[in-house]
Amino acid sequence: MSPRKRVKVDTSETEDASQACARRDEITEKLKALGYGDEDLDPRFDEDDWKWNTLLDNDSLSTEHSWEKILPQLEATIDLRREHKASEFRIWRRSLRETEVKARFSQYRPRLEYLVLHKLFLDADLFELPAVRELIEENECRVPLTEERWLTVQNILVQSVSDHASRIEEDCHDAVVQAKYGAKDLANERWSDERRKKWVQREEEIDREEEENGVDREDPEYERSWNPKYLDEPTDDLVELEEDYEFDIRGLVGGQDAVPLCFSSAQSLLEQEVDGIRIITSYTDILRRRATAPLYHGPAWRNEDLCSDRIVDIAVLLLRHLGVSPRARMAYMVACGSVFRCRRCSQVPVSEGVTWAELVQHFVAEHRRYNELLMNASEEDINNLDENGHNLIEEEYRPLNLGVPVSMPEGLEEVAGGPFTNAGHLYTQLAATW
Ligand SMILES: [Zn+2]
Repeated sequence: MSPRKRVKVDTSETEDASQACARRDEITEKLKALGYGDEDLDPRFDEDDWKWNTLLDNDSLSTEHSWEKILPQLEATIDLRREHKASEFRIWRRSLRETEVKARFSQYRPRLEYLVLHKLFLDADLFELPAVRELIEENECRVPLTEERWLTVQNILVQSVSDHASRIEEDCHDAVVQAKYGAKDLANERWSDERRKKWVQREEEIDREEEENGVDREDPEYERSWNPKYLDEPTDDLVELEEDYEFDIRGLVGGQDAVPLCFSSAQSLLEQEVDGIRIITSYTDILRRRATAPLYHGPAWRNEDLCSDRIVDIAVLLLRHLGVSPRARMAYMVACGSVFRCRRCSQVPVSEGVTWAELVQHFVAEHRRYNELLMNASEEDINNLDENGHNLIEEEYRPLNLGVPVSMPEGLEEVAGGPFTNAGHLYTQLAATW
């Protein structure tokens, strides 16, 4: 085809296109004159068999006669849209409103940077604010965002962003503290069980000794030997045990910039859903993950994703087995790196070296797996079930000749200032690394 001819064809195609456009415009104007709105005339959500484009592109439409013929068909499609596609249009309008709000917010963001924890406030959190929701949803999402309407949001942003950081802190704090009390109760129970067992053993010994010595228990002078294994009074070891769990529960104290004490503890791990997977993580990691979300994308903060549950109990038992104080700091455990090993299985990488949070996650998962086996097993099966290989209760695993369940290399006592380091206890320090 010569270039000359090609130009000719292109021109005629353009002419056709412009004629078609003019025809569509004419019909659109006629329908608008009849009172139909933009969405009535918008085919974006039409089903394949709904007539619209075929009618609009029909050459014979320009005559009055054919207009009268196709108008009822066009109106039938409009009725279908109104009846079946209202929710799609509403979702579409909502996304338009959200885009408008987001654009305003990203322009405004730099003015929030003086707030230390401003990065925790993601775009999704903005849409959770009642004022923003109201703005977006007004008249079923039909009202575009104006400067004046945006100002109602802008005026509350500083407060909302700092409230948001406080809310995350409080939600995590509640979950951890609750779990610490739960873990303390479990430890107390174990302590009492052990005491009771020892007391019963000693009682049996006394019985045996008295029988062997021919003691007459019917004798009015008879006085049973004292059993020193049982004490009503709390003993020093019980007091210490309780303090190990409570040493850092002192509310949200320490000044605005201080990370609450309870999060600095190596025990304070939380379980959170990240990208659909539940992982065990520290408070500071939760903050870091939010603060470094690319372009502030990420889900809105949801308290119900959090759980600390049995995690604290397992963490404290693991710390004891590692020979680390239950009062050690999270910053120290994190600084040790991937050095913690499970000695109860050959799963990789936990048998070769993982982080503190990963080690706890492994044991939590093994405990859940075993509990599930127990729950689903029939009475008969329970007797044949193997012992929990990842049992952390010394009194229970020792008789099975199982050694210490976990290990870490020696010589790490001074890492990052040692187990009681103060590293990372200020929000400004944390925020500087995001
Ligand atoms: Zn293991």
